[in-house]
Amino acid sequence: MQINAWATKGPNQPLEPLSYDPGLLAPDDVEIAVEACGLCHSDVSVMNNEWGISSYPVIPGHEVIGKVVALGSNAKGLTIGQRVGVGWGSGSCMHCAQCQNGEGNLCAQNVPTIVGHFGGFADRVRAQWPWAVPIPDGLDPANAGPLLCGGVTVFTPLKVFDIKPIHRVGAVGIGGLGHLALQFAKA
Ligand SMILES: [Zn+2]
Ligand SMILES: [Zn+2]
Repeated sequence: MQINAWATKGPNQPLEPLSYDPGLLAPDDVEIAVEACGLCHSDVSVMNNEWGISSYPVIPGHEVIGKVVALGSNAKGLTIGQRVGVGWGSGSCMHCAQCQNGEGNLCAQNVPTIVGHFGGFADRVRAQWPWAVPIPDGLDPANAGPLLCGGVTVFTPLKVFDIKPIHRVGAVGIGGLGHLALQFAKA
């Protein structure tokens, strides 16, 4: 079944409708029906090849929330209909030291969702099952989307530096990330 998406064909080109055939679902992948997708500045950077790594057509969107509609034969821990989120990464090797330590974002084979892979500005998106993160049903999909990139980016230092309620923290810049950092710090 075709996936209908918004794509750009080159730097500084508008987003236009694009349908593509995703082929057979890989054994480790899941397919997700997209409910909402945030817009991150990295989407714009990749659309315009600002980092020299873009692969066109680019289908942006890496703050994706949706429901699992298909499970690869080797996919684990998820069920059809479950709400999940997909962020910057959509896959990794799953056997290197980084992957084994829960740092698959540092894996040499990490697959960015929107570089050489089609992102979430689409009716469906695919990801390797460990990269489809369960999302509680009580969260509004549109509000949950930004947690998958801007949110994890600013939550990570709070966790790494073991920030406690007695600490004071500073957020440099109150943009797409900073406004989430303030909310986490307050909470
Ligand atoms: Zn992002
Ligand atoms: Zn790895």
